[in-house]
Amino acid sequence: MNEPLFNGPLAQMLRRAFRDTPNPWPDEIEKAVRAPEAVPLCLNCLAPQTRDGWFCPHCAFPTGDYVAVNPFSQIFVLGELFRRGVTGAPEKRVGVHLFLLVCSVTQYAAFAPVYWFWLWRRQLGRPICEPRREPFVVDLNA
Ligand SMILES: [Zn+2]
Repeated sequence: MNEPLFNGPLAQMLRRAFRDTPNPWPDEIEKAVRAPEAVPLCLNCLAPQTRDGWFCPHCAFPTGDYVAVNPFSQIFVLGELFRRGVTGAPEKRVGVHLFLLVCSVTQYAAFAPVYWFWLWRRQLGRPICEPRREPFVVDLNA
C-alpha cells in the first residue's frame, strides 16, 4: 500500500484528536507499571503474584496474563463471576443485574432460570452461601 493513502487529511485529524488526550497517570507511575521488575497483582485481592500460576495463592481467584482468553481457564473466570452474583449481600446496581441475567443466558441457556432463582434469593437477603474468602490485608509497613 502507498503510505500517502494513510496520511490523508482524515488520518491527520484523527491522529491530532487522539494524540492530544491527556494521560491520567503521572510519568513515574507509568514507568513503574511498565518496568520489567514490576510485580503483578491479583485482580481480586491485590495480593502480589510472585510466581507464574493460574490462580492467586491467597484467594484462588484466576490470575495470569492469559486466563481470561484461554478457553480452558476462562471457565474458572466465568465461574468466579457467576459465584459472585449469588453470594454475599444483595446487589444494588442495576447494571450488574442486567449483565448477570444476559451473561447467564448466554452461558447456561436453558438452565439460566436456575441461576436466576439464586440471583433472586440473594436479592431477598438469602444467598446460596456467604463469601468464604477472607479479605487480604495489605501490609503498608512492608
Ligand atoms: Zn487474590
